[in-house]
Amino acid sequence: MNHLREAEVLVAGGGPAGLAAAIAARQAGFEVAVVDCAQPPIDKACGEGIMPDGLAALAALGVQVDVRQVAPFRGIRFIHDGQSVEGSFANGVGYGIPRTVLHQRLVDRTAECGVSLHWGRRITGLSTDGLLVEGRVVASQWLICADGQNSKLRELAGLEPATPARYRFGFRRHYRITPWSDFVEVHWSDCGQMNVTPVAGDRVCVALITRLKDLRFDAALRRFPQLAARLERAENMGSTMGAISTTRTLGKVHNRSVALIGEAAGSVDAITGEGLAIAFQQAIALANALRAGDLTDYERAYSQAMRLPRRMAKLMLLMDNRRRLRERTFRALAAEPGFFQRMLSMHTGSLSPLEFGLGRGLSFGWRLLTA
Ligand SMILES: Cc1cc2nc3c(=O)[nH]c(=O)nc-3n(C[C@H](O)[C@H](O)[C@H](O)COP(=O)(O)OP(=O)(O)OC[C@H]3O[C@@H](n4cnc5c(N)ncnc54)[C@H](O)[C@@H]3O)c2cc1C
Repeated sequence: MNHLREAEVLVAGGGPAGLAAAIAARQAGFEVAVVDCAQPPIDKACGEGIMPDGLAALAALGVQVDVRQVAPFRGIRFIHDGQSVEGSFANGVGYGIPRTVLHQRLVDRTAECGVSLHWGRRITGLSTDGLLVEGRVVASQWLICADGQNSKLRELAGLEPATPARYRFGFRRHYRITPWSDFVEVHWSDCGQMNVTPVAGDRVCVALITRLKDLRFDAALRRFPQLAARLERAENMGSTMGAISTTRTLGKVHNRSVALIGEAAGSVDAITGEGLAIAFQQAIALANALRAGDLTDYERAYSQAMRLPRRMAKLMLLMDNRRRLRERTFRALAAEPGFFQRMLSMHTGSLSPLEFGLGRGLSFGWRLLTA
């Protein structure tokens, strides 16, 4: 790092999005360097589920995961007041992967591709000559900003969103317990959701996402009695990590030779479980645009990829603080189980909105009104 003065593609931020972008750019034939202020493997509060479409993108990046370090899940189950509805993926399985395992695997793959990695280095600004790393200019032909949801580079590149972001609060804890299900469970209550993802043969990841800023993990768990009973005797494996789940939409994610990726480029609420999959898909789209020498291609691919997750997030969040609507929705979903299955297929990209069909939406809408 001492001698990093320039790079063809410079990636600012070495979280999952930055590393995926670095791998994809390297695969496209560029010389790539990554700078991050932390040391790997980097941990972060996350539900730790990667959907099948995210795994497909990871495979395209050549990232293999050791199946002994992950746990597969075959679908999503919503649970509310003892009632549950579930759907299986039509396009394979998802993986629950502890965040540090995922990060280490991405780091290994990045190194294997020949990307130069610079950990423990703080990015301090952006000038017309290039990125400032600890006050020194690093010049590049292309700059990829992957410095997360509080991205300073986004602002410095003049790509701040026009509308304010919406926030919820996230916490993550690991429990030592044999996963009782091969579904990701999303438990609903008046205070938010608790997602349970199997992440190893002897471990589950429990993530709380809530709009209540003063609510903490243990107090929240008491509001999910069915889940609390399951976890009563399970060992809490460490500290509870917190993070903000942000909904942020940007008008533009590139500016001349600068592109944003991952949460720096905007995000959907964590309830979608799609943040990582979106980042890995963006990385591939961005590398294609770099190869073509035109970032407007990336802009187009980005807007298209974000459309559906945004809609799904909006739809799900309608139920967040509306108990009556939640109850009706669960009743309607229970009465028409195929509907949830098809929603899930659309969510993970194996069914287009067109294939999903207006007729089915209307029929479900009718059930919702009459449930
Ligand atoms: C509660 C919760 C649950 C979630 N559950 C899921 C889930 O189950 N599945 C899913 O797919 N997604 C989930 N997500 C979303 C997912 O965690 C994010 O999409 C993902 O972390 C985004 O990665 P990133 O690389 O963009 O950002 P980050 O992981 O935040 O990486 C940003 C990097 O930039 C570096 N950086 C920042 N500033 C500087 C600086 N000045 N100098 C140097 N380095 C800097 C940081 O050190 C960091 O390594 C969840 C999110 C939350 C909050």
